[in-house]
Amino acid sequence: MFVCGPTVYDVSHIGHGKSYVAYDIIARYLRKKGYSVFFVLNITDIDDKIINRAKETHEDPLVLSERYAQSFYRDMKDLHVNSISLYAKASDFIPEIVAQIQGLVDKGIAYKIHGGVYYDISKFPEYGKLSRQNLEQLTVHRVDPDPEKRNPGDFVLWKSQKTGEIAWDSPWGKGRPGWHIEDTAITLTYFGATYDLHGGGTELIFPHHEAEIAQAEGLTGKKPLAKYWAHTGLLSIKGQEMHKSLGNFVPIQDAIQRVGTEALRVLYASTHYRSPLDYTEETLVQAASLARRFRRAYDQLQQATGAKSGSNVANDAVKRQVDEARTEFFAAMDDDFNTPRALSAYIRMVGIAEEQGKPLSSESASMLLKAMKELSSILGLLETDSVPRREFLHLVILLNSLRNELRAKREYALSDRIREQMQKVGVIVEDEAK
Ligand SMILES: [Zn+2]
Repeated sequence: MFVCGPTVYDVSHIGHGKSYVAYDIIARYLRKKGYSVFFVLNITDIDDKIINRAKETHEDPLVLSERYAQSFYRDMKDLHVNSISLYAKASDFIPEIVAQIQGLVDKGIAYKIHGGVYYDISKFPEYGKLSRQNLEQLTVHRVDPDPEKRNPGDFVLWKSQKTGEIAWDSPWGKGRPGWHIEDTAITLTYFGATYDLHGGGTELIFPHHEAEIAQAEGLTGKKPLAKYWAHTGLLSIKGQEMHKSLGNFVPIQDAIQRVGTEALRVLYASTHYRSPLDYTEETLVQAASLARRFRRAYDQLQQATGAKSGSNVANDAVKRQVDEARTEFFAAMDDDFNTPRALSAYIRMVGIAEEQGKPLSSESASMLLKAMKELSSILGLLETDSVPRREFLHLVILLNSLRNELRAKREYALSDRIREQMQKVGVIVEDEAK
């Protein structure tokens, strides 16, 4: 499984989060079903955007991109995206990229002009098959300034060096790779000519993924490059695209600090991966309250399994309900990874836990807990340990009583700060209205 990763010239935002959490759930689910999944995600660490940003900051572009790559890895870790087997950075694959371009040149599919080496799309009649467009449709609205190109839609494989720009040696002179060739150099290296699943945002279908198909299939003569394509819908904010210039840019870390990883993952899972997601205050609050509800039910179940309650017999009705919810969850995931439906089944399971009144028989509780853990591990929920160690618990109680004293003295600024800090380590304090 290969997924187009970020171009690392800035911190990642919650739109990236939507996409990568979606693929994380897909990979987790496939593994759950018994598939052995080797999941590669590429990092574009050399690109126009990176070079331009590095000029602004007077840095080496590779130093800048390494910094943002590190910040991306941290974002993924904090989002509990733990299914990725390997991150592949483009700059680590220059020899493979050059070899691939050479292969295309040798086959007469690529040609060298002043600006670099280009792919001649007229040599690949199937160009456009993924987006179901024909060559005419693809080129009609593309204005390209380079008159040396054979066809207006020809795309760049190797960019000749411009003065002062970072460059590597190649048979066509100093330069750097085009964007599309990175991915096929990486996938040919790890997977060979054909592999199972290719992911990326919907906006990448054309030209990026069309170009990948043309490069790989044109070179190897084998098809398909990927058996399945899974494209994720974009995230918007109150109907607008997210942009720094619009002031609506939400970095992943900011969102985690505000509502926590679980709420974000609930939010993402509540939309089908193919669908766009409009990020609003209401949807976020809703997701956060669901996440708290899950946690509460989970904690109660954990307590109930330890408690020596009256009945030790698992309730048949409970078992039946749990089985139904579980079956529904898997049926939903089997249907093109329908996470909103799967999430409803999950909520139904949480509902069973909530409904059963107390005390739940410890056997029922452990059955429910087991089922909930299983589904949680697919959605990536409830992964941080929720049973604090005794010492930690004492500290929490102490902090909380100090906070109550502060509130009694109307020292709200300080008490809010304590609450925020507690939230960062996973302790959620809810004040009751007085
Ligand atoms: Zn890509």
